Amino acid sequence: MSIIKRIAIFGSTGSIGTQALEVIAANPTLFSAEVLTAYSNDELLVEQALKFNPNIVVIGDDKKYHKVKEALAKTTIKVFAGEDALVEVAALNCYDIMLAAIVGYAGLRSTLQAIECGKTIALANKETLVVAGDIVMQKALENKTPVIPVDSEHSAIFQCLVGEGRNKIEKIVLTASGGPFLGKKPNYLVNVKRDHALQHPNWSMGAKISIDSATLMNKGLEMIEAKWLFDLKPEQIQVVVHPQSIIHSMVMFEDGSIKAQMGLPDMKLPIQYAMAFPHRIPNTFPRYDFRKPNTLTFEEPDLRTFRNLVLATEALFKGGNLACVMNAANEIAVFAFLHNRISFLDITEVVERTMNKIAFIEAPTLEEYFDTDGEARSFAASLIKL
Ligand code: NAD
Ligand code: MG
Repeated sequence: MSIIKRIAIFGSTGSIGTQALEVIAANPTLFSAEVLTAYSNDELLVEQALKFNPNIVVIGDDKKYHKVKEALAKTTIKVFAGEDALVEVAALNCYDIMLAAIVGYAGLRSTLQAIECGKTIALANKETLVVAGDIVMQKALENKTPVIPVDSEHSAIFQCLVGEGRNKIEKIVLTASGGPFLGKKPNYLVNVKRDHALQHPNWSMGAKISIDSATLMNKGLEMIEAKWLFDLKPEQIQVVVHPQSIIHSMVMFEDGSIKAQMGLPDMKLPIQYAMAFPHRIPNTFPRYDFRKPNTLTFEEPDLRTFRNLVLATEALFKGGNLACVMNAANEIAVFAFLHNRISFLDITEVVERTMNKIAFIEAPTLEEYFDTDGEARSFAASLIKL
């Protein structure tokens, strides 16, 4: 690579965002950070801005605008605040690649804006595709916008597909670690608390995705993400539990040959791959060593215990606005669980009841997706009495 790629990190203070900045810091001749955004962590945003000297920072929570503005007064960094500013900045010419690393539905509008402006998208924010994958991918096609996955499973599949041209996929196998409660049954899960659910065995991630991994909703969201990213039929997507998280996912082609992408679990690798694509660049991350004693195992997910995966499969097959409903209810339920308002098993209960309640729309417009999200959030919140 000869020209510096200018990166906009939407969600720079999160788990993905901070790791992306580590990749940028390690490769100053390849990447520069031009836009940094955060929702409420103004202190970290300012610290990052002073270190990386971006063009622009955006603080989502506009109450914190003056604090950020004051802290950066001696610099030339432009400061914006509020939800709409995220969308406006996504349209600017000061960057080439958006790393979409905001968590949840909140990342949808800015990512859509960047797609419409033909920016390359390094996509961590899986909820964008779960909510409105048909519209998002259609817009990417119309604007010739590359969408490169950052989610480790989807990065693995993307990497397996490089060089395969039009060769047909028979199916993809998404690997799941199983999360902190692998092998546990409902009589155990009924009592689990927030801090325990946040302890993922293999990955250190933001709070929401950590809970989604514990409930297996994360894998459900990833099935839907894969459907849109790789234009697959629901029946081509299989989930297998692989507790070691060394194989990040696999593609089986129509001749039965299987390609897998492997490595130690470290999100910096898929982040770096998405930002540097189509190149691979060297790094000093720890390497997997086949000579050390190791066993790679695979098993079926326990669908009787982790019913979120059944609900997500229903959304995957039925399409329409059902995945959008599921996602909204899940965001509300996970938030409530993180604030000790509902129990671990209630999360699935809230999602299921909301999916049964909200009117189904076969082929929603973007406006209808926005409305569906709002209705599903209100109904889910009414179940919890938030
Ligand atoms: P996180 O909670 O650590 O960080 C989220 C970021 O989004 C923060 O910078 C926060 O300020 C910002 N944000 C939160 N709410 C916002 C709002 N309403 N408006 C604007 N900005 C807001 O999350 P994370 O773990 O980094 O995950 C980010 C995304 O990447 C998620 O969609 C997640 O599913 C996906 N992902 C994460 C990992 C991982 O290892 N962490 C792996 C694969 C995919
Ligand atoms: Mg993943």
